[in-house]
Amino acid sequence: MSTTLDPELAALAIDALCDLDHPVKAEARAWAAANLTHRDRVAADREAHFDHDGWQRLADHGVLGLFVPEADGGGGADVITALLTLEGLAVGALDQGLLYAAASQMCSAQVALASFGSEEHKQRWLPALCRGEAFGAFAITEPDHGSDIDHLEARAERLPGGGYRIDARKAHITLAPVADVVVLFASTDPSARGWGISAFVVPTDVPGVVRGPNRDKMGMRTTPYGDLTLDGVEVPESARLGPEGAGVSIFLSAMQVERAFVYVTQIGAMERQLEGCVARARERRVGGVPIGELQAVSHRIADMKLRHETARTLLYKAALHSLRRDSGAMAAALTKIATSEGAVASAVAAAQVHGANGYASELEHEREIRDAVGGLFYSGTSDVQRNIVARLLGVSRGSTR
Ligand SMILES: Cc1cc2nc3c(=O)[nH]c(=O)nc-3n(C[C@H](O)[C@H](O)[C@H](O)COP(=O)(O)OP(=O)(O)OC[C@H]3O[C@@H](n4cnc5c(N)ncnc54)[C@H](O)[C@@H]3O)c2cc1C
Repeated sequence: MSTTLDPELAALAIDALCDLDHPVKAEARAWAAANLTHRDRVAADREAHFDHDGWQRLADHGVLGLFVPEADGGGGADVITALLTLEGLAVGALDQGLLYAAASQMCSAQVALASFGSEEHKQRWLPALCRGEAFGAFAITEPDHGSDIDHLEARAERLPGGGYRIDARKAHITLAPVADVVVLFASTDPSARGWGISAFVVPTDVPGVVRGPNRDKMGMRTTPYGDLTLDGVEVPESARLGPEGAGVSIFLSAMQVERAFVYVTQIGAMERQLEGCVARARERRVGGVPIGELQAVSHRIADMKLRHETARTLLYKAALHSLRRDSGAMAAALTKIATSEGAVASAVAAAQVHGANGYASELEHEREIRDAVGGLFYSGTSDVQRNIVARLLGVSRGSTR
């Protein structure tokens, strides 16, 4: 069932789609360039330095609360304004890891709490998460079960006196090393497989929760990321998010938001790379002519433009589905594929346009390639998104998760 679009929001969506320099985006870009540019980004990347100050500036600027209703401590922005803001930040800031971490918390843990949390969950966590006073993680992946969420090994057993005892090992979790709260998925009924999974809101200061150290990784090294272990953790019944067995529905709902919107940070990076390549193609000369006159180079840049516009168009189409409150599963999956794969191709192309300087670390093209690769995995791999597209087209019975 779809909702008729508010005419003002519909007009804003069209402006967002057509105007690459929309004022909301331009303002966010300028703010990010002034406030989120780490002094020595090459060293920050090498040292996997998480910019706590930058995170707090994002919170103080109202960014972390963009998707959260005002009643729950957020800014209550409409989805188009929120995306224009994140897009502008991503063009202006070079710390892709910081922005990905913020977008990940906003699109997964916060969306799950705002959409399915009890009043107690919302009041306890959402204002603190929006203000940057707490970090929130969203944990489903396990060492032996990533795409295959039907066979989670995490268990939540009912205790005779009420509440649950949770045993879980979660892996590759964004913000895990610093998380104060985790939206965690565990099976309350293993015989029902996926339909026996429930979601829990678990503070990480409860006895038995261990946050692993920051794990070394290829890219987005400035994002804290690691494992979480829950060993006999006892939580009250009120820690459950939604009814027992609703975990997969909660996961799918949050994941649809995440795979549609978290990639806006990569779309911003693609735009910045494109701008840099256009400038370089005009300036750098070989044999007396700018390299942009060479068709191999100009076509490479034209393809970057095509990938960027394709990803951006799909992003705002997914946002329109969200505004209409109809099924945006296809748009979300297509956005994820086009953006994650386009971002890798564009980052490589940007390095090529810059020649050996693109390979050296100072210009950060090599870092942007490494950062882009992570997008192939989070929010469900690109392969799994193709299963969803094929299933929705009616050509295969593959997974829709
Ligand atoms: C930077 C980053 C951040 C992340 N953050 C989080 C987080 O915050 N929370 C969280 O829970 N997880 C997170 N993850 C984990 C991520 O969700 C998983 O990596 C992803 O779901 C894939 O699981 P896997 O790594 O176990 O790969 P596997 O599922 O083992 O897949 C291995 C390969 O097989 C392919 N494959 C698997 N199943 C299918 C299928 N049915 N059809 C076609 N191909 C298939 C995959 O595409 C992949 O190429 C993050 C990962 C990264 C890289």
